[in-house]
Amino acid sequence: MNILTEEIQKAGSIAIGGHVRPDGDCVGSCLGVYGYIKENYPEKETHVYLEAIPNTLKFMKGAKEIRHELPEKKQYDLFILLDCGDAERLGFARPLCELAGRTMCVDHHISNQALSDVNYVRPEASSTCELVFDLLEDDRISKEIAECLYTGMVHDTGVFRYSCTHSSTMRAAARLMEKGIDHTEIITRTFDEKTYAQNHILGRALLESFLFMDGRCIVSSVTKKVMDFYQVEPKHLDGIVSQLKLTKGVDVAIFMYELKPGTYKVSLRSSEAVDVSKVAQYFGGGGHMRAAGFTMTGTMHDVVNNLSRQLELQFQTDGGEGPTE
Ligand code: 5GP
Ligand code: MN
Repeated sequence: MNILTEEIQKAGSIAIGGHVRPDGDCVGSCLGVYGYIKENYPEKETHVYLEAIPNTLKFMKGAKEIRHELPEKKQYDLFILLDCGDAERLGFARPLCELAGRTMCVDHHISNQALSDVNYVRPEASSTCELVFDLLEDDRISKEIAECLYTGMVHDTGVFRYSCTHSSTMRAAARLMEKGIDHTEIITRTFDEKTYAQNHILGRALLESFLFMDGRCIVSSVTKKVMDFYQVEPKHLDGIVSQLKLTKGVDVAIFMYELKPGTYKVSLRSSEAVDVSKVAQYFGGGGHMRAAGFTMTGTMHDVVNNLSRQLELQFQTDGGEGPTE
């Protein structure tokens, strides 16, 4: 019996949670595990807690059952953290995790501090969804669960292109395809497709981007005012930093948006030359070698100045190989 099954079997009540501003891998892994427990252990009291999820991910089974608020004084036997490296990133669900009898974490963030009672942390893995796939019993994975896990893998690998994509990722994806999922539809509707407003703001971010450090870095930013003008939220800005990263000659792409006046959420993407997880961790954030993020106060230029110093240091050391998202 594997460690996840063991923990599920021991618990009467189970809560599942992921990181703030949940992305494809976070929602996919949470709803994948949620669906698996609901389908195979219906006697367990199981709930999933996440912040609002992007509309494109609402097709997943169980999406309507996600809880966005805390129950009063509820103590679960087990809290499963997915795609989330530290308690702070759990957001509003943190008290539930702290109160729970036991905690288990499945994650692929290099910055994960393995603070749960049971930790299944593999920084080299493509996605938390691939790790969840490894932990679930194949013959008990339904088509609906396969849709969740496949979506997460697609999102964290940029449709199986980033260097975090391993042969094991492709084998897992193949197995999930065999469950009868519409893989083309998942990629088109959840990853490729953008709204008119999203394309406008992407265009604007590209137009206003600039190179620095001899063309090795590119940066662009979007203020709260601009986001309000286009009526877009942070979850709609996915993909902008990856597009910036495609600029020829660029080793590090930086995209930042204003969470509130004077506070920026910064996303970093890099090639082999730089380990951006180290940079992000220096500023109190985290992530992976090739994709990381953090939050910083100040103007856009303050952020660039502070970042430049840390990037210089990383340019002097070899980044090595590793996962991207
Ligand atoms: P993104 O740039 O897409 O928001 O995040 C890239 C990667 O870095 C993701 O794996 C994400 O979980 C991680 N990440 C982004 N921002 C933060 C942060 O503030 N703290 C931590 N620990 N990880 C972050
Ligand atoms: Mn992930």
